[in-house]
Amino acid sequence: QVFNLGSINLDHVYRVGRLPAPGETVAARSLSTGLGGKGANQSVAVARAGARVCHIGAVGPDGDWAVARLEGFGVDCGYVARLSTVTGHAVIMVDDGAENSILIHPGANRALGADWVAEALAAAQPGDALLTQNETSAGIEAAALARARGMHVIHTAAPFDAAALRDLLPHLTLLVLNALEAEQMQAALGCGLADLGVPEVIVTRGAEGADWHLFAQAEVIRVPAFPVRAVDTTGAGDTFAGYLVAGLAQGLTRAQAARRAAAASAIAVCRAGAAEAIPAGAEVDAFLAT
Ligand code: ADP
Repeated sequence: QVFNLGSINLDHVYRVGRLPAPGETVAARSLSTGLGGKGANQSVAVARAGARVCHIGAVGPDGDWAVARLEGFGVDCGYVARLSTVTGHAVIMVDDGAENSILIHPGANRALGADWVAEALAAAQPGDALLTQNETSAGIEAAALARARGMHVIHTAAPFDAAALRDLLPHLTLLVLNALEAEQMQAALGCGLADLGVPEVIVTRGAEGADWHLFAQAEVIRVPAFPVRAVDTTGAGDTFAGYLVAGLAQGLTRAQAARRAAAASAIAVCRAGAAEAIPAGAEVDAFLAT
């Protein structure tokens, strides 16, 4: 099965005529609150793809709604800790031109202890997968422990932080970067993808698809994107990563898992929202059959 150490956020989206300047006060026209956080999105993607996923994370006293949403998508929340720190949240302002301004408070996501993660991973078997992103604490401890237990360790390097990534690299079996993160990584670490010491690296390039580098085999699997009319690309990378890891856990080949992930994210970018936009496995298979 898949274990995902990941963030859980409450996303508060405010519609405004224009974004407030420093010192200015602006009244919002509307507010909508949804489930967010890269970690939560990826757990939803794994579950919707049809694989078992145990989410390792934390919320505060105000986090019941988020946990209920995750459980509604079929995510096992037995290792979502209830802490006294507030639940992570994002204040997202969107103006009439669709320009946005985002403030994130990590809250409980960064208060998660390594002991809790170790307890969650005690049930893991060799061959299981650990998925992580860069929005929680205890990521390095989790990756080191998972690798020592013979698990696959897959990391999405977002939000990008060179120092955090450098410490994580020795524990990874697969690193997933978007094109911008790949550039930032090469600039910050001054080396190419092949020199990271990670056996496999995927670079996603939006509508241009993705490249899956297998360094030991000196092979690159080209993953074409499906041509669609995108309306909201929020969460494309999370849908892709979740479906990909689910596919591998379900016994698909790399090429099959990547193709299903590309189809799932192509459907997701045609819909507004993050977690809500992630399609179910049956829909993705129907899309692939046409
Ligand atoms: P991120 O959201 O992390 O920036 P990308 O934008 O690279 O990630 O998207 C990840 C994957 O989602 C791509 O490799 C592609 O398969 C799919 N995807 C993203 N944008 C589009 C698009 N406009 N049309 C079709 N597929 C897309």
